Amino acid sequence: MYRQVEESQTLLINTQSKNLVDQNKRVIKFGFGQSPFMPPKPVLEALKNAVDHKEYSSVQGDIKLRQCIARFHKVHNGLHVTPENILIAPGSKILIYNILMTFENADVFIPTPAWVSYAPQAKLAGHNIIKLETSYEERWRVHPTTINNAVKDKQHEVSIMILNYPGNPDGLTYTEDELKNIAQVAKILNMLVISDEIYGLLNHTGSHLSFANYYLEKTITTTGLSKWCGAGGWRFGVALLYDSIEPEFKQTLIGIGSETYSCAPTPVQVAAKAAYKNYNEMKVFIDQQTQILKQIGNFCVERLSLSGIQVHPPEGGFYIFPDFSLYKEKLEYYGIRTSTELCEQLLNDTGVAILPASAFGFEEEYLAARLAYVDFQEPVNSAVFDLSTDCPNVIEGIEKICNWIIAKTQSL
Ligand code: PMP
Ligand code: GLU
Repeated sequence: MYRQVEESQTLLINTQSKNLVDQNKRVIKFGFGQSPFMPPKPVLEALKNAVDHKEYSSVQGDIKLRQCIARFHKVHNGLHVTPENILIAPGSKILIYNILMTFENADVFIPTPAWVSYAPQAKLAGHNIIKLETSYEERWRVHPTTINNAVKDKQHEVSIMILNYPGNPDGLTYTEDELKNIAQVAKILNMLVISDEIYGLLNHTGSHLSFANYYLEKTITTTGLSKWCGAGGWRFGVALLYDSIEPEFKQTLIGIGSETYSCAPTPVQVAAKAAYKNYNEMKVFIDQQTQILKQIGNFCVERLSLSGIQVHPPEGGFYIFPDFSLYKEKLEYYGIRTSTELCEQLLNDTGVAILPASAFGFEEEYLAARLAYVDFQEPVNSAVFDLSTDCPNVIEGIEKICNWIIAKTQSL
């Protein structure tokens, strides 16, 4: 009678971790992907002063704000988007869902590992899901040939691909050549590409390249304030459409928005203007963040690798995707055969919360998990960040994982 929809694993681990803390249990929170950084001061001030903006905005969002966003993205990643082709909504998550809902039937190509919500959203929209496999050896990057070969599984006329980089759960990004090669295939296959670049501004070297620049014809870029601006709970997302978008497509998208969320919270739109009005001012704040995230990510990778856990250094965002496969046989001895069992035992034994690979599109037996290295407080002075004093929980959590795996396996 009811649709089969489980609570999203990301939100679930957040609630579970909070419940354990409420029961006075110590939890190191590597499960939920939430930025530890506060929005910059001018943005916070703008929100404080905007409480009296109690009116609704248009569905598409405030036009002055859309102008700011258009200018911001032109400077940040050379995107030429007109304010008329920008959609603002309460989070990019609902925008991705509504884009999928725009089509009655579609094949949705999802490179795996993939963020937890793409497949459930595509399923809710009634689409055919086509998983695009990648591998640890290829650093989880999707290969153009894989996309090409997957066409045999198509059932519908419309093809949509959801690309995500910097990647959640794997922290990957793509080089310009790789993006061009993917774009070439997407173009030949006449795909609509949703390029989820919510972590784009958190590229660790500030060198994020937008897919739309290589496939102008049919790329919708999604982004927002949740990650680089640390404002996930404010619920503010953006979709940057393309010049040649069919008017019926845009109208349907706005129509679905009007029948579901109406508009993004108006006070948040006022605050967003402060965030988007001056890219160079925000860049100072972003650079400090990415320096810190890079250092923490590299520390985690180095330490985990020393303990025989395979993991790629992150290239953006705040996730790594450690692979425990080298310990597979030994972990079996403790009844750990799946990534869910791995995460459950780790949480029980050590209080460290991470999310199983099964949440990201893998079969249960693949022993990997996503680690969000965000259990730290924003340093008082980001310019003089010191990992050992500013990130005690991250260090403790990583040590606990390493000690746990060694203790479990060395005596066998
Ligand atoms: N895409 C990815 C890859 C994410 O990790 C998230 C989680 N914040 C979202 C989209 C949705 O973000 P929001 O709705 O907060 O804009
Ligand atoms: N994107 C975050 C994560 O992957 C959490 C927010 C969400 O899932 O909506 O952990």
